[in-house]
Amino acid sequence: MRSDTLTIGFTPKQTRNPLVRPKGVIALIHIRASRLSKLPPYLFVEIDRLKRAAIAGGRDVIEFGIGDPDLPTHDFIIDRMSNAISDPKNHNYSPSVGCAPFREAAAKYMGERFGVSVDPETEVVSLLGSKEGIGHLPIAIVNPGDVVLVPSPGYPVYTSATIFADGEVHTVPLRAEDGWLPRLDEIPVDVLKRAKLFFLNYPNNPTAACATMDFFEQAVAFGREHDILIAHDCAYADIFFGEPPPSILQVDGAKDTCIEFHSLSKTFNMTGWRVAFATGHAEALAALAAVKSNLDSGMFRAVQMTAVEALKQFNGPNVTEQIAIYRKRIDILLSGLREAGWDVESPPATFFAWVRCPAGFDSMQVASRLLAEADVVVVPGSGFGPTATDFIRFSLTVSESRTQEAIDRIAKLSW
Ligand SMILES: *Cc1c(COP(=O)(O)O)cnc(C)c1O
Repeated sequence: MRSDTLTIGFTPKQTRNPLVRPKGVIALIHIRASRLSKLPPYLFVEIDRLKRAAIAGGRDVIEFGIGDPDLPTHDFIIDRMSNAISDPKNHNYSPSVGCAPFREAAAKYMGERFGVSVDPETEVVSLLGSKEGIGHLPIAIVNPGDVVLVPSPGYPVYTSATIFADGEVHTVPLRAEDGWLPRLDEIPVDVLKRAKLFFLNYPNNPTAACATMDFFEQAVAFGREHDILIAHDCAYADIFFGEPPPSILQVDGAKDTCIEFHSLSKTFNMTGWRVAFATGHAEALAALAAVKSNLDSGMFRAVQMTAVEALKQFNGPNVTEQIAIYRKRIDILLSGLREAGWDVESPPATFFAWVRCPAGFDSMQVASRLLAEADVVVVPGSGFGPTATDFIRFSLTVSESRTQEAIDRIAKLSW
């Protein structure tokens, strides 16, 4: 391909005329649909640039930015996969809603873990990672112009998925003083009239906050009152340090107005495997399945059969041991930060530490200084939304010794 075809972005229509096209611009640049330009700008550009420059300059960068476990997939899962992959029965297309054993295992997990009863036939749909399901859900249920309520700070896919479905994003701010739970009574009535879908996520990325059952009860009542489907993203349900975080489906009648996303990615260090499921409201799942059946031809059956075994071990020794590893890392990070004078709270769940910036500095300034002066990468809260500019996120996906090294460097800085 000629290098000038790589120019990206939208150019005014008249430049499509070859006679008036500026030098170096050729017709292929118009290939991008205008909806792509509606995606929010990538806010970590500057930090990314600085990080790459530091690494290229040979500096010893410690990376707390990435939300992807550094630990390998648990051994018993690898063993099971080795068997499953050599069985020819696992080599063909499978239904995009998932094969029966996987859906039954997902239903069993919901029962054992949360005491929630779901029908594996009609109330479970397999997903190629929960991101896939979150991404396709608005296409399945949102009409052009419908409002989608999106929490901020939050996982960016809620917004991009809404844009791809020509929905309208209404940002719902989460604030530290509310324990990062949304104020439901703050959402304007005219917005509620047009709202079709509400994304929630607890345990939360990036704040690590957990929801109370009391909040989930309010959310379900709210969904029912305003005819809004609540889509609860529960990707971190099994990585917690105290009380097990609840499912929104534990609320009586929740299935009338909620679906929930579960993923094996974080619990079993399986991010690259792409295995997850959605459960709850049957019609919403059927709509999602209708989209999926036109786009994917099912999850690799060997992965599904392996996931059946993995799901049985959601509270098994491998997960317990992994939680203990995260806890040690958190202790090193947080006690180190506290000693250095930072105001920090322990996360109840997830592998994120959501840390308040030193007084007088915003998250961009703190992230830039940590990188420039300590070779430590964190994510500035401002990238997640305007109510998060006083916080930075550390992913605890760094070994104990490297976490200690980072702390030693951070402790030398004064603010
Ligand atoms: C990691 C993550 C996901 C995506 O997980 P996959 O199942 O791997 O697609 C979804 N939601 C949140 C909040 C996450 O942090």
